Amino acid sequence: MHILVTNDDGVRAPGLLALAQAMQPLGKITVLAPDQNWTAGGHVKTLHRPLRVRQAPLEDGTPALASDGAPSDCVALAVLGVVKEKIDLVVSGINPNANMGHDITYSGTVTAAMEAVISRIPGIAFSLASPGTIPEELDFAPAAEVAQRIVRAALANGLQPDMLLNVNIPYLPSSELEDIRITRQGLRVYRDKLDERLDPRGRPYYWIGGDWPTGVPDDGTDIGAVEEGCVSITPLQLDLTDRPRLEQLRGWDWS
Ligand code: MN
Repeated sequence: MHILVTNDDGVRAPGLLALAQAMQPLGKITVLAPDQNWTAGGHVKTLHRPLRVRQAPLEDGTPALASDGAPSDCVALAVLGVVKEKIDLVVSGINPNANMGHDITYSGTVTAAMEAVISRIPGIAFSLASPGTIPEELDFAPAAEVAQRIVRAALANGLQPDMLLNVNIPYLPSSELEDIRITRQGLRVYRDKLDERLDPRGRPYYWIGGDWPTGVPDDGTDIGAVEEGCVSITPLQLDLTDRPRLEQLRGWDWS
């Protein structure tokens, strides 16, 4: 079992170290992660500049590679040959904040796992639904334990090349974490606000700020499960086709 470990927070992020350590007992691991933070960087394919890869060992001495590409570039680089040995599974994270509902479309953590599935390698994204903004102050240990448990179960049940799982783990001590729930995507509610300021030359510039998103905690959803203290596993697929609308559109007069 050869597991590629990546993330979107950068090779120095504490969540990556926690995930790499949790995967170590399960097989051979290779770490290839971005050299900087790509949070909310989405699904990227870098085509118009060269990509570099360098050695960047983790804090505990685990060998690791860092690239100046996006998380999805890191997976592509690894799969296309920077990593010589065949990769059986890609895990991404542990992101310090949740990736639920519409977050998935922004998430570098999840899009790294998506890139794996495009290459027919199963991908699992792990995110910690923490309230904090300073990853260095978070305890990733309970989430890392959960990640190990989930990967063990996935291995025991059989990896499938198109399996894309989005895992969100409540920020709770292990003893308070409830069961695993298999969920669908919930509805995120964003509270973005535009902050317009003036630069020293009097020209406007903009920050997209505002408060943390909330969500509708419906039963059966990722948001609902995490709100109840449960680990949420949402199986995803890259086919975004709106199937009910197929028939509707086919019935329209397009003349
Ligand atoms: Mn991130």
